[in-house]
Amino acid sequence: MPSRPRAASEIREAFLAFFEKRGHRRVPSASLIPDSDPTLLFTNAGMVPFKRVFLGEETREYSRPTTAQKCMRVSGKHNDLENVGRTPRHHTFFEMLGNFSFGDYFKPEAIEYAWQFVTGVLELPPGRLHVTVFREDDDAFGLWRDRVGLPESRIYRLDEADNFWAMGDTGPCGPCSEIHYDFGPQPHCTNPRCNPACDCGRFLEFWNLVFMQFDRDGAGTLTPLPKPSIDTGAGLERVAMVVQGVQWSYETDLFRPILLRAQELSGCALGGDAEKDVSLRVVADHARAVSFLVGEGVLPSNEGRGYVLRRILRRAARHGVLLGLEEPFLHAVCDSVIDAMGGAYPELVDRRAYITDRVRHEEERFLETLSKGLSLLGEEIRAVKHEVGRAGAVLPGEVAFRLYDTFGFPLDLTEDILRGHGLRVDQEGFDAAMERQRERARAAWKGSGDVAVSQVYATIAMDEPVVFRGYETLRLEARIRALLSGGAPVERARLGDEVEVVTDQTPFYAESGGQVGDQGEIRTATGRIQVTDTQRPVAGLVVHRGRVVAGEIQRDAAAQLVVDAELRQATVRNHSGTHLLHAALRQVLGPQALQKGSLVAPERLRFDFTHDTPLSQEEIERIEDLVNAWIERNAPARIRELPYAKAIEEGAIAIFEEKYGDVVRVISFGDFSTELCGGTHARATGEIGVLKVLSETGIASGVRRIEALTGQGALAYMRAQERALRTIADLLRAPPGELPARIEKLLEERRALEKELERLRAERRGAASGDLLSQVREIGGVKVLAARAEGADPKELRAMVDELRARLASGVVMVAAEGEGRVALAIGVTPDLVGRFRAGELVREVAQVVDGKGGGRADFAQAGGRDPAKLEEAIQKLYTLVEGAA
Ligand code: ATP
Ligand code: MG
Repeated sequence: MPSRPRAASEIREAFLAFFEKRGHRRVPSASLIPDSDPTLLFTNAGMVPFKRVFLGEETREYSRPTTAQKCMRVSGKHNDLENVGRTPRHHTFFEMLGNFSFGDYFKPEAIEYAWQFVTGVLELPPGRLHVTVFREDDDAFGLWRDRVGLPESRIYRLDEADNFWAMGDTGPCGPCSEIHYDFGPQPHCTNPRCNPACDCGRFLEFWNLVFMQFDRDGAGTLTPLPKPSIDTGAGLERVAMVVQGVQWSYETDLFRPILLRAQELSGCALGGDAEKDVSLRVVADHARAVSFLVGEGVLPSNEGRGYVLRRILRRAARHGVLLGLEEPFLHAVCDSVIDAMGGAYPELVDRRAYITDRVRHEEERFLETLSKGLSLLGEEIRAVKHEVGRAGAVLPGEVAFRLYDTFGFPLDLTEDILRGHGLRVDQEGFDAAMERQRERARAAWKGSGDVAVSQVYATIAMDEPVVFRGYETLRLEARIRALLSGGAPVERARLGDEVEVVTDQTPFYAESGGQVGDQGEIRTATGRIQVTDTQRPVAGLVVHRGRVVAGEIQRDAAAQLVVDAELRQATVRNHSGTHLLHAALRQVLGPQALQKGSLVAPERLRFDFTHDTPLSQEEIERIEDLVNAWIERNAPARIRELPYAKAIEEGAIAIFEEKYGDVVRVISFGDFSTELCGGTHARATGEIGVLKVLSETGIASGVRRIEALTGQGALAYMRAQERALRTIADLLRAPPGELPARIEKLLEERRALEKELERLRAERRGAASGDLLSQVREIGGVKVLAARAEGADPKELRAMVDELRARLASGVVMVAAEGEGRVALAIGVTPDLVGRFRAGELVREVAQVVDGKGGGRADFAQAGGRDPAKLEEAIQKLYTLVEGAA
């Protein structure tokens, strides 16, 4: 009999082993990033990876799994962020132990297993255990009382809010039952009827058993599920509290070493000052969340998961400041997280350097603006407090937004600070400012969000970032750091192989900001790669894509990287041309013409912008004139690195993905164009040569697109136009100047000819119909005609049916034609007969004979078929059908 588990790692193992012994498959923790549920940012419970199984959309080869699942509760329905550090039991990242039954065992077993584990394995004193059940769940109540033997006084019936679980508004749901531990009466609790629903800290919920037994429909009706299921979740941190007899999860062995590191770094000891204690705990909690998120490839960004990470990380950084830390420190706390958790999660150890580097980098960025932001916020708080008579004491949304936008303060960080002063943020004002910003950003950048980072790339990116030197040079010597073939790392690539190459530095520009990736060559002593594209799949990583065109290439080889200068120069012309086009658009159309996106390639440029109406020819010409006048001025490019706020102050058009806290690259030409841009540019506008607009179209409501060419490309285009014009002139034997009149005349002649042709066709139809009339049969008093009309097209068939219907006055008509291996059929029924025969139905049946489909109205219908050989049979079919119905 193994001794009773005490350490968290022993508890985790004991739990999994316990359920393994009871027929459960031990399944490794799924990723924190759910792959099966796009509505969820993070896995927030043990059942999430099995959601589709519970819904019956997926099956597994086992019906009883058990897991220790990584969870995050920082967004959406379960958001415990604000509790962290303040309650003894809430974390952002935590581990959920669980056992599940997919339509296998149900309540009796689930309750019995839980009780056996808690009292038998963990050896918790039964007298300390209390349970809750759903008000109406007599089954569960009875099981706890009779099977387990718990006195009724320790079984509580709670209502829906606490003890009824649902996957969503509809779908699987059911009552649940929680197990609580009683730490004994709390001196500060004033509730005379203190029970598990009381929040004083006496009772701790540590395990929730969900009995999935109903399916709820849109009207809220519950139907019993044919195979009820079990989903249980026990927070490892909370189980450890109970086992280790501590009332704060931070006092368990899961957190102690991490808190110790935070105390060492800050010089603040726990138990000194209540607010500092909160900060220490927040830092410890957040360090865990941050380590796991970065370890899974999430990087700080301004949206989605990356933004959640950034918020947590910055919140921790600010608590560091409260602890008196002025230098980056969180990465060092993360180091202790990796020590503490690496045994159970070896991926953390594998990625230690990557995780701590990334965290440090983000900390450094934030620290640059943090103190300025804090002093601004301090002033604003004083101002708000001094404003007497102001209801509710609210920080203007604009201020919160400025902190967010310029100083990188996520809103909940600002709120966290305000809470300490009894203030709150004007949420509406913040949202409005944010919306305006979004509009601007939307106009500026498309799709530069978090890319699902492939593991391989993430692994490579863990080393040093690739140094981009392509602003200064087009060729340099570098070392090949990694070679990928088919997405997997390889040691060498042979002639003909498609490869991805990563070097320590590169002159190749990786696609971003609309500018496509550079092309060129990578040469080593043993071979040569033709590079056809350059990408940046992960921040800091540049990947050259291409094919080995000579010899072979080895990893670690010294290489010469050479960008195709001609293509680069063409791209440069188009990129600078795009900036001038953007500036000209704003001058001609007004400042509401905002960039929505752009594509800059060597051969062309494309620019999308907000504008409601199509541009007139005159506006387009004015834009072209303006741009070309700026080109003629040959204004030199001025490239500067400035703090973001300063750049905006100087009127730069803000279209940068990473904004606040950043030093941004600002490109100006003369006094007419200033933009934030990381792309490559002409040294002076003259290099652009000329800019010619090719087209202007609408691509979405309120969004227009201009395509244009510059330099040689524009010249080539104009030449092609000229050549086409000359060819037309030759064909028409007229000088180019007279072409419009000549074409006008030709079109007129053509219209006259078409008219004449139609008249002749009608005549021919008349004659043909006349001939066909001789084939009319009478079946049961109904005139029926089914015949071929050679060479007619579907439109003509219709005209013929009309004509025949008119001539017959009463009857059923079908004409059919074949051509190019296909059959066309048209059936008409005169109005007096539509009550008896329906053209649509007839045509469907007849079409089947020739392997076709069709349909239509009661009086007229058409069909096509693929089997002309059966046409005769189809014609007979119509007669048979009429006969059957007549
Ligand atoms: P609470 O009411 O304490 O927030 P909950 O009802 O939200 O808990 P469940 O959704 O039932 O919890 O999750 C199942 C188990 O997961 C809980 O019994 C608890 O042990 C654990 N758990 C839930 N949220 C957290 C958290 N934020 N940090 C640590 N453990 C948690
Ligand atoms: Mg909760």
